[in-house]
Order: sequence, then structure tokens, then C-alpha cells
Amino acid sequence: MTEQKQPIFTLENGSVRYGSGQPEAVSGVSVRLYRGEILGLVGESGCGKSTTARAMLGLVPLSGGRLTLHGTPVSVHERRLRASVQAIFQNPAASFNPKRSLLDSVAEPLRVHGQGTSKERRARALAELDRVGVTEQMAVRRPNEVSGGQCQRAAIARATILRPEVLVCDEPVSALDVSIQAQILELLAELRTEQGLAMLFISHDLGVVASLCDRTAVMYAGRVVEQGAAPDIANRPRHPYSVALQDAVPSLDLTADPAPRIRTRTGTDDVDGRLLPGCRFAELCPSVTSACTAAPPALDELSPRHEVACYHPFEPAVR
Ligand code: SF4
Repeated sequence: MTEQKQPIFTLENGSVRYGSGQPEAVSGVSVRLYRGEILGLVGESGCGKSTTARAMLGLVPLSGGRLTLHGTPVSVHERRLRASVQAIFQNPAASFNPKRSLLDSVAEPLRVHGQGTSKERRARALAELDRVGVTEQMAVRRPNEVSGGQCQRAAIARATILRPEVLVCDEPVSALDVSIQAQILELLAELRTEQGLAMLFISHDLGVVASLCDRTAVMYAGRVVEQGAAPDIANRPRHPYSVALQDAVPSLDLTADPAPRIRTRTGTDDVDGRLLPGCRFAELCPSVTSACTAAPPALDELSPRHEVACYHPFEPAVR
């Protein structure tokens, strides 16, 4: 992927707090989405991935930071944001009206934005559905009358019918069978190439992210701890949490060394990273020092486009 100067859509230093007195669910997270590029956002359940996505979609308010579209600040209430940024979610059936056909639901954004006559909207919706592999015979059915894969294809058609520039995908394949997952991933990759869409792809599956995405950002406890080119993060992770995350993925390579490269601490509990002001991985990190618990490490560039928030990054040559 070529270096690009200006991202289409960004979250800058974004923070989200669910209620006063609560700890921040997301702290100072920055996300940059470029035309024709897919950014994978990975991390364990509850790390803040979906909250980040929801903040970028305006579904939860930011307690700090801002969104920009083409370099200028944008409010979640602005029409240009709603037209430019669309989303697909894990359970597409839940996001459709169960009483309406897929065709009617896919045509709905055109009606909301005042585009075309009823006949024209139907024709455009059918064309959009056909483009993502949903036949007219399927399109006239309700969500509960088609498979999960067909439903997710229709959700993609509904998200792209207004020709957005950005697609936010929150765990879009995790509820699907493996064979269907591959088809949906292929479809997303095609859309990225054909339409130049910028995508945020959220997943807990590192294999899926490595195969689909151009860049990867790793989140832990509400912060981005590492980001860079997807192959670099997959093959040469430098943050101890990213290394532990990679080591937890089962390997099909029987010659691979099964020993983890780092051993996370357990049961010591002498440092509570969530309560102290420093690194939030300190509680589990085998490389923790007093510096780690004094102040949170900033994302620093270790090599071009590879940033790590760690005072003592993992050395990949060890294995
Ligand atoms: S900053 Fe310190 S505690 Fe945090 S991941 Fe790096 S070495 Fe571990």
C-alpha cells in the first residue's frame, strides 16, 4: 500500500467514558483511515474496539478528542458524516426490520436521503444487492427467511448504496460459518479495491486481520498499544501484549515452536496496571520496571509506520 498524505476519516486522541465517575473505556485513541486501505483493530473482548467504532459512528459520545473528515473537524450530527461513513455489524439480522424485505431495507437509505423515485430506488437496490451476490429471489425475502451470509451481504449492500467513503465493520464475520466468512471477506476486499473504500475492520481473529488488512492496530485496556503494517504486526510484534496475543493463536504448522515467546505474569498482583497511572499491561507484563508504572508509554515510531507504546519493546530476534 502506497504512502498517502491525508487520511479520509480520523479519530484523534479519542476518549469515551460511560458515565461520570467511571474509568475511561477508551483513552486517547487515534485512528486514521486512508482511501483504499483496511485498518484492522484487534484485541481481546472488552478492550475498547467496539467502543472506538461506536464513537467513530457517533453512537456513543466522545468525552475527549475529535473526528475529522478530509482534514476538517466534523460533528456526528453533520449530514456529510452520515452519508460518508457507514457501518456493518456482527449480527446483520438484528439490524434489519424483521417485517420488511431485504430489498426494502436496502432501498431505505435512498429514501431517507431523498434520492430517486420509488421505482428508481427499487432498481438501484436490486442492482446493489446483485453486486454483492444477493439474487432478486432472495432480495424479496425477510431477514429471517435467508441465511446469515445472505443477510450480511444485504447489510453490506445497504451500507454501500449511498457510495460512502468509509465503512466501519464491527466483527462482521464472527457470527458466520467459516466457509461463509471467507466469501464475505473476499467481498469486502473487492469493495476496497473497486470503490477505494477506507475501512475499519474490527476482529478478535488475528488470522482474519492478517489476511485482509493493510495495517493493524492492537488495543489493550482502552488504548492502542501497537500499530503498523499488517505483516509486521503479524510476524514481528514488538509490544509484549501483541506477542502474547499472537502466541495464543493455535498454529497448524507442526514444526513451529509451541513455546510462548513471553510468559505473562499471573497471580502476582503486586502491580495493578488499571489503577496505577502507567502502562495498563504492567499487571501481566514480564518486562515491567518501575518506569512502566509511573506514566503511560506514548506510541513511538520504532521503524517507519510501526509504532509501539512500550518502554521495553520485545526483541523479535529472540525466537
Ligand atoms: S511499558 Fe513496561 S509494562 Fe508496559 S508493556 Fe512495555 S515493558 Fe511491559
